[in-house]
Amino acid sequence: MKQEIDYSLVIPVFNEAGNLAELVERCLKVCRQSGRSFEIILVDDGSSDGSTEMIARAGKEHQDVIGVLLNRNYGQHAAVFAGLAQSRGEIVVTLDADLQNPPEEIPKLLQVMEEDVDVVGTIRRMRQDTLFRKLSSALVNSMVRRATGVMMHDYGCMLRAYRRPIVEAMLQCREHSTFIPILANSFARTTAEIPVDHAPRGQGDSKYSFFRLISLQFDLLTSMSTFPLRLLSLLGTLIAASGMLFAAFLLTMRFVMGAAWAAQGVFTLFAVLFVFIGAQFIGLGLLGEYIGRIYHDVRARPRYFVQEVVASSTD
Ligand code: UDP
Ligand code: MG
Repeated sequence: MKQEIDYSLVIPVFNEAGNLAELVERCLKVCRQSGRSFEIILVDDGSSDGSTEMIARAGKEHQDVIGVLLNRNYGQHAAVFAGLAQSRGEIVVTLDADLQNPPEEIPKLLQVMEEDVDVVGTIRRMRQDTLFRKLSSALVNSMVRRATGVMMHDYGCMLRAYRRPIVEAMLQCREHSTFIPILANSFARTTAEIPVDHAPRGQGDSKYSFFRLISLQFDLLTSMSTFPLRLLSLLGTLIAASGMLFAAFLLTMRFVMGAAWAAQGVFTLFAVLFVFIGAQFIGLGLLGEYIGRIYHDVRARPRYFVQEVVASSTD
């Protein structure tokens, strides 16, 4: 039986040796001041700069720090998952290890959690990132909002808090590419958002190269919906329909203007071609529909999630 704890911090770490000491110290200070029971879970995501040893040492030294060491680099969201699986807190707060999310903001999140919300997200005040990152997040956020209905403004910020049942529901999801804030929202009944400070990165560089960012965007897109697959059939129908219209147009003009007008039927070929290309896309879209369903099943997300069962107790 796991011991009950008020809240857990889950922090993914990938080559953050320059930030770790300050991170642990500031987190411990904030948590101790909160007067509640806590644990700090540092997940080493296959670091190679000494962070691993620092985490292992912190885990031994401090009673409230737990180090989870992964054998290699799996990516930020997988690392957070490893931390979630280890966590025991009634509330779980995730944050970045690079000190961009000031630990001093954690009490604010916990306070909002008091009001019976399942997930607390954050909006970064005065975001300290490059223009490219800001633009790409603006794009992603608007995309997510459109696909999921307006729920949150900033999905990129990992300083977030989740209630235990939400964490358990997420742990039941077996898919590999996933985006935690969106997954969490799909299980949450009530969510809230608060503004928080954002600092420039402590030491080191961002761990997201251009290509990793692209891969993350695809994780995000595919974790949300299989709609892009459906677009194929839509596109196919459009192409095929325009091919048929074109054929009708050619036929009419052929009778009105005579055989010479349509270059002796050469253009008819285009019309036929369009119809066939369209049919191919529709075929692809059909495959897509199957793949989409396979994808849903393979992910094996819980079919439903019972948040609470309310009954007058008889025992
Ligand atoms: N991170 C991780 N594994 C990775 C990449 C990043 O655990 O493969 C961690 C990293 O140590 C940091 C957090 O995820 O704590 C966010 O990474 P980063 O600050 O580089 O991202 P950015 O702020 O540029 O979005
Ligand atoms: Mg960062």
